[in-house]
Amino acid sequence: MSLTPPPLRDDCFALPAGTHWTPVDEALALLRERLGPVTGVETVPLAKALDRVLAEDMHARRANPPVANTAVDGYGLRHADVADGPQSLPLVAGRAAAGVPYDGVLSPGHAVRVLTGAALPEGVDTVILQEDVTTDEAVIAFHGPLKKGANTRRAGEDVAEGEMLFEAGRVLGPAEIALLVATGQAQVSVRKRLRVAVLSTGDELAEPGEAARADQVYDANRPMLIAMLRRFGFEPVDMGRAPDDRAALAVMLDKAAEQADAILTSGGASAGDEDHMSALLREAGAMSLWRIAIKPGRPLALGMWQGVPVFGLPGNPVAAMVCTLVFAGPAMGLMAGQGWQEPGRIAVPAGFSKSKKAGRREYLRARLRDGRVEVFASEGSGRISGLSWAEGLVELPDGAMEIEVGTPVTFIPYAGFGL
Ligand code: AMP
Ligand code: MG
Repeated sequence: MSLTPPPLRDDCFALPAGTHWTPVDEALALLRERLGPVTGVETVPLAKALDRVLAEDMHARRANPPVANTAVDGYGLRHADVADGPQSLPLVAGRAAAGVPYDGVLSPGHAVRVLTGAALPEGVDTVILQEDVTTDEAVIAFHGPLKKGANTRRAGEDVAEGEMLFEAGRVLGPAEIALLVATGQAQVSVRKRLRVAVLSTGDELAEPGEAARADQVYDANRPMLIAMLRRFGFEPVDMGRAPDDRAALAVMLDKAAEQADAILTSGGASAGDEDHMSALLREAGAMSLWRIAIKPGRPLALGMWQGVPVFGLPGNPVAAMVCTLVFAGPAMGLMAGQGWQEPGRIAVPAGFSKSKKAGRREYLRARLRDGRVEVFASEGSGRISGLSWAEGLVELPDGAMEIEVGTPVTFIPYAGFGL
């Protein structure tokens, strides 16, 4: 008997009836609830602390600025000596420069030369800008009145000694490092970097540089994921490629679990014949195939392998990147001790139109141009070129949405995901 093909239904691309597709927020809430810091603590000099995660609250050891000083090049004087209108004051000998203080107390009725950053000499409470005086080096002439305290910085006006600076979990960027150094720290107690094993699966994959058969594709996910992990401040561990073979994949997962705090895989995550990643995790008994209501990248295989969380990403590079930004990144951030990081969203008028159906959240490759957000011409999840065309993602809500040019939409720059 010959087989009859199944009838094509016009809803064949609709979500299966009666199947529960986990909404993105529900999936994120579960990750947030179930994961926590796994990394140890070490001390590093601030010069090497970029992208590291504070392991303890930090307080200022020292005020900033430590003493009152002058904000400009000019002349220091006593405010009490200044009248309204044109006037002059004799200059004392000597000057105050940054790091080279004036030796002594300013005599009443006099002014003293001061340079930006110099500690205010005793007696000086106000500074007049050098551009606002005329001088013959013996006397300065200027117009009053002056505001008391003008052009000076009070001790501790920026940060007081002992003030709370950052809570544990804060990721250190250049600005955080600057403040910690300015307030007297030389080293910090930080979390060890989260080690994340990365492996690709698929018989069709070829190694970069290798001659590829026409039916092979280069393994783009592994270098992409490794690069993303570096940007997140984690330590990638390259585990290479696994064939579509359960036993070989299991051996690689064993190795990965020995060396890393988390495992990031791509490919083989759905429920097809060659989807060994999800099959293995299911066999291990600690797997849930998360059918997440998200486009692109619905099946996400989440499970534990020898006690190590595995994020089984879809193989399509676009889906792999989006799922890493939306799920695996924040989840690994929690494991790394950062707490839960919400992506930095901004509302921007759309530069495109789209009729979005209800049912799942959508992420479109997007970029800002002329105050509007434009999206990549194709939504196909195999279109790697759209990832680099884009500078971030547009996030469309789970429900239906009619978008016209000018409709406000949510844009998340790559940097808003920590990339
Ligand atoms: P899979 O999730 O394994 O069914 O793969 C889905 C699609 O993504 C297939 O077209 C794969 O060839 C492709 N793919 C899987 N892994 C990679 C990879 N590491 N680099 C580039 N493409 C991949
Ligand atoms: Mg595959």
